[in-house]
This record gives sequence, structure tokens and C-alpha cells, in this order.
Amino acid sequence: MTFTVTVHPSNKVFSCEPDQSILDAAMKAGIVLPYGCKNGACGSCKGTVSQGSVKHGPHQSSTLTPAEETAGLALFCCAYPESDLHIQVRVISMAGDLLPKKMPARIASLERVADDVMIVKLQLPANENLQFFAGQYLEFLLRDGSRRAYSMANPPHQNQQIELHMRHFPGGKFTDSLFGNAQPPTKERDIVRIEVPLGTFFLREDTTKPILLLASGTGFAPIKSIVEHIFFKRIHEQRKIVLYWGCRSKKDLYLNTLAEKWVHDYGINYVPVLSEAKPEDAWTGRTGLVHQAVMADLPDLSSYEVYACGAPVMVEAARRDFNQYCGLPTEAFFADSFISAADLAKS
Ligand SMILES: Cc1cc2nc3c(=O)[nH]c(=O)nc-3n(C[C@H](O)[C@H](O)[C@H](O)COP(=O)(O)OP(=O)(O)OC[C@H]3O[C@@H](n4cnc5c(N)ncnc54)[C@H](O)[C@@H]3O)c2cc1C
Repeated sequence: MTFTVTVHPSNKVFSCEPDQSILDAAMKAGIVLPYGCKNGACGSCKGTVSQGSVKHGPHQSSTLTPAEETAGLALFCCAYPESDLHIQVRVISMAGDLLPKKMPARIASLERVADDVMIVKLQLPANENLQFFAGQYLEFLLRDGSRRAYSMANPPHQNQQIELHMRHFPGGKFTDSLFGNAQPPTKERDIVRIEVPLGTFFLREDTTKPILLLASGTGFAPIKSIVEHIFFKRIHEQRKIVLYWGCRSKKDLYLNTLAEKWVHDYGINYVPVLSEAKPEDAWTGRTGLVHQAVMADLPDLSSYEVYACGAPVMVEAARRDFNQYCGLPTEAFFADSFISAADLAKS
């Protein structure tokens, strides 16, 4: 049996099998709904079922509470139809222009830029003209069928090589081999398989609102792509750009010099914030939680668009507190949460 799903307010219609998630069925029909982790953990795909019923696969109960489910909310990445449906969710029209493709890639270089951060460059096949929006991510397709997501750090106009910033998770299936802690180690010239581009976290260019960019750790990767795209398109000449980057200690700010160069060359505001500054850092800059530094400096965010990326705990705190205390409209907050297997195990 196949069910019909009608999306409001766009009035788009697609078919969905009972064992197919609503997000997957929409994507197959070329209709892109908002999504991030695709694992029921980040909440980017949350919307309302106004008619009909769905059942959910595994998801985090903090991301969709039983009360929200009773009120008709659903996580479309892991919701399966039990009848024809009418759902309320924003269709991302631009993302539909760039549907994901699977392709091989070669590891062109591995550069360790901090104790636990590697910059990885991937060479694409010569005939591949990769197009993506600044902020999107790709997935590595691992031999055992699992996938790992990493955000592109290069801007879309520099698409000969893909740049990724990867943090080491001790005990992690993918990054242990990247950092030489598991056999076989990942090496330069290895061939990998990827699917790209993915995600609906990307710069919206149809407004002149000021832009607040918020990164924690390697969440700097998609923010770098967005910033370099902004300079390429000269968006900074029309829109104010403010960048906050939170890390534990000074050595974790692995591209601090680049961010300082952006300040010098393009006049953007950049505030690095350390949560665990060490005495040897001799740090005289901001300390504490990065989203709290933003709230202290910009108590009124009502006119801003916010792009936040990195640790799930930072993204969720920023989403909640900016909305609750700084007047940021919910639809002006865009985010990718770097959900890992450890976060999924908490559900
Ligand atoms: C949209 C998106 C974009 C991302 N972009 C980036 C990026 O640009 N840069 C980046 O560094 N990361 C990014 N991530 C995170 C990345 O995808 C991986 O989750 C991360 O690199 C860890 O992968 P891994 O295979 O090394 O570790 P995993 O095998 O996923 O394990 C992660 C940690 O969890 C522990 N663990 C595993 N299983 C369990 C369990 N059952 N119970 C408890 N603990 C467990 C492991 O020991 C390890 O410490 C992104 C994630 C998402 C969803």
C-alpha cells in the first residue's frame, strides 16, 4: 500500500511507502524538507502532522517529547506513514536544485592542525563539477554500510578539492583510523566513497539581515565555507557579519590566524571564546560558553539570522536561549548539530 503525503503551505504532494521515512520519500520525489542528522536526534526535520497518523522509528525522546508527539509534532527523518497525510513543514526550494550523488574520491592530503583536529582534502574525479551550497555536508560511505557526516569547509566556487575538518573521537570507528589509532590507518591516496551534497544548513541569500555565525570546535568548517562564500559574493558589503568561535583552549582555535585575516581584510567582527583556557595560553580574550558571550554582547538578536554549527549541546543551548532571551525568531535560526554515535546512544 502506498500513502499520499501533502505538504503545506507549499501544496507539494508525494507518495510514501509504509516502510519509507517521510523525509526519504520526499527526497526521492525531488522535494527537500529541512533535515540534519537523519537519525532523530538533531530536530531539524521537526514538523506537524495536521491530518493522518505516523509511527516513529528510533529517535531521542528529548528531541521529540511524548507531549509534542501527542500534540501532532513529528520528526520526518524517522516518521513512517500509517495513512494518507497532510503535514506542515517548510520546503527548502533551493536545495531541490542540488540532489545528492554518490562518487569516489581520493584522499589528497591529511594535515594535523591541532592535537585532535585533522584537515582532510579530497580530490574528486576529473569529470565531476561538484555543486553545493555553502554550509552543506557530505557523507563517507563506510564498508560496513554505516555513514559518517562531515561539513565542507571550502566555498562552493573552489570545488576542485573538498576540504574537511575532522575532530578525533577516541574509540570512534572512522576517526580512530584517521588519527592512526586503528588498523588499517587512513592514508593519503586512499580511495573513499562519498555522497554529496547533503543537508539544509546553508546561507540564505534572499535577505539583507545581519548574519551571526556561531561555531564550536570543528563546527568552524561549514562556517568557513559560508564566510568565504560571503566574501566571494561581496555579501559583507550589504550585511553585517559577526563570527563567534568557541573552543576549549587556545591551541584548539586551529585557524585563528585565518579568522584574524578576515577581520583585517574584510572588516568582519570576530570573537574567539575559550571555555577551558590554560595558564600557558596567557589568554586575555573572552572566556566561558560561546553562546553566552554572544548574549552578553548582542542582547537583542531580533533582526539577525543565526547560523550555528558544532557540538549538539552548544547548538541546542543557542537555539533555546537566543529565542527565549534575545528575541531571535525561531525561523531565523539555522543549525547543523554534529551528532555522533555517543549522542545517539543516549536516546
Ligand atoms: C550533519 C553532520 C555534520 C558533521 N560534520 C562534522 C565535521 O565537519 N567535523 C567533525 O569533526 N565532525 C562532524 N560530524 C560528526 C561526525 O559525523 C562523526 O560523528 C564523528 O567524526 C565521529 O565519528 P567516528 O566514526 O570517529 O566515531 P563513532 O564510531 O561515531 O563514535 C563516536 C564516539 O562515540 C563512542 N560510541 C560509539 N558507540 C557508542 C555507544 N553505543 N555508546 C556510547 N558511546 C559510543 C565512541 O567510542 C566515540 O568516542 C558531523 C555530524 C553530523 C550529523
